[in-house]
Amino acid sequence: MLMDDTIAAIATAYGEGGIGIIRLSGEKSKEILDTVFVPKQNEYRESIVNRRLYYGHIVDPATKQVVDEVLAVYMKGPHTYTAEDIVEVNCHGSIVALRKTLALILKSGARLAEKGEFTKRAFLNGRLDLSQAEAVIDIVRAKTDKTFDVALLQMEGALSQRVGQIRQALMDLLVDITVNLDYPDEDIEILTYQKLSESILLISNMIDALQATSGAGRILREGLNVAIIGKPNVGKSSLMNALLRESRAIVTEIPGTTRDTIEEVISIKDIPVKLTDTAGIRETEDKIEKIGIEKSKESFNRADLVIFILDGSKPMESEDLSIIEKLEGRNVIVLLNKEDLGIEVSQEKINQMLPGATVIRSAVKNGHGINALEDAIERLVFGGKVKQEDSLLVTNVRHMELLEQAAAAIKDAGTMAKNAEALDFIEVDVRRSWELLGEIIGESVTEDIIDQVFARFCLGK
Ligand code: GDP
Ligand code: ZN
Repeated sequence: MLMDDTIAAIATAYGEGGIGIIRLSGEKSKEILDTVFVPKQNEYRESIVNRRLYYGHIVDPATKQVVDEVLAVYMKGPHTYTAEDIVEVNCHGSIVALRKTLALILKSGARLAEKGEFTKRAFLNGRLDLSQAEAVIDIVRAKTDKTFDVALLQMEGALSQRVGQIRQALMDLLVDITVNLDYPDEDIEILTYQKLSESILLISNMIDALQATSGAGRILREGLNVAIIGKPNVGKSSLMNALLRESRAIVTEIPGTTRDTIEEVISIKDIPVKLTDTAGIRETEDKIEKIGIEKSKESFNRADLVIFILDGSKPMESEDLSIIEKLEGRNVIVLLNKEDLGIEVSQEKINQMLPGATVIRSAVKNGHGINALEDAIERLVFGGKVKQEDSLLVTNVRHMELLEQAAAAIKDAGTMAKNAEALDFIEVDVRRSWELLGEIIGESVTEDIIDQVFARFCLGK
């Protein structure tokens, strides 16, 4: 590993701020700090103490010109973020001060860090495994409490631990297989196909359980696509408004006036939700309306969840029925809206026509039914296979793909065991599953993958 150079970068966000931090990592960190930093109290000059914050100035050694007034700290490795010696300089949060200070530091022997290079060093120095390092990006980018919590848990090693358990089970099995293959005549416990199948099934279930969390994980990462559908005037815009709690969508009395799709990203119970108010998918000759309808169809088609609103106070019309036909096989929540005007539509009939759909009575204009709707959305995302209290979710696409392949490999092994095929064939698939899971935590990954992972980082992280 070639990490004998010292890297530096601005670690805080660009723009105005109270302070801005420049971070250095590597052997020469302290030496470089000594070159550009003049502490206020001279007596400390000879011996900068580990992990003590010093007040002073960044001074250009060539011109003796003061660049900024700063606080600086030196942290000796290996108990640091990168496991190397680290220096942090707290400058004034001005991009000018930061750039000038960084320029001086680079002139004094540091190299500008690449994207994610601090975290990459933490990984290469064994401080974090790859899935933990990847979680660092997710922490930086988290937009809701939930995504932040999930990323934090992963950074602390929850995913690594779970993957480690499964790999251990795979390794135990590999040992059993190998012993049976290599020393069949010794006095060892015979691995029957029955026992082999049982072990494989157990491991396969463990991988499946982890994989099952990726649905909720994807939604936390990308957001849940929700399309609101219903004929004109049933309350789609009013629902949007109620959910947004602000009047961005236009509410009118005239049917067909919501011409364009209106998209909003909101947070429902900490789940990022991409909400689309459709113009109503119906036949029309109006050109502008036609464009809106095309967009609506698109949002409808890609929606993870469809909220179908009916005017519950009036009998259903053919337009409602033709929407219902399109909802087969979809995740649907039905709102029987305008319940304040009485309920004409029978809930039983809706249940018959849309089995599996959640039906909620609402008066969105008055905010009634909104809580029930939000609860239903939460249940849909976290209910089913993913337990609420289990906040270990697979959110990373790279991890999802590896889990999928590992699951396929172990299932192949299972099929072969059932058919009593040769042990050495089965061994290949068990080993493959073990290797694929290893890639999640960064064992047996190529440099290529490592570079790709860290290229996603921001500068200074
Ligand atoms: P959209 O065409 O489906 O978007 O329907 P809007 O949200 O524009 O609402 C159409 C009309 O129905 C407006 O006058 C709303 O105030 C009214 N409306 C919406 N929700 C309710 C409700 O729950 N109760 C009653 N009484 N009126 C509602
Ligand atoms: Zn509308």
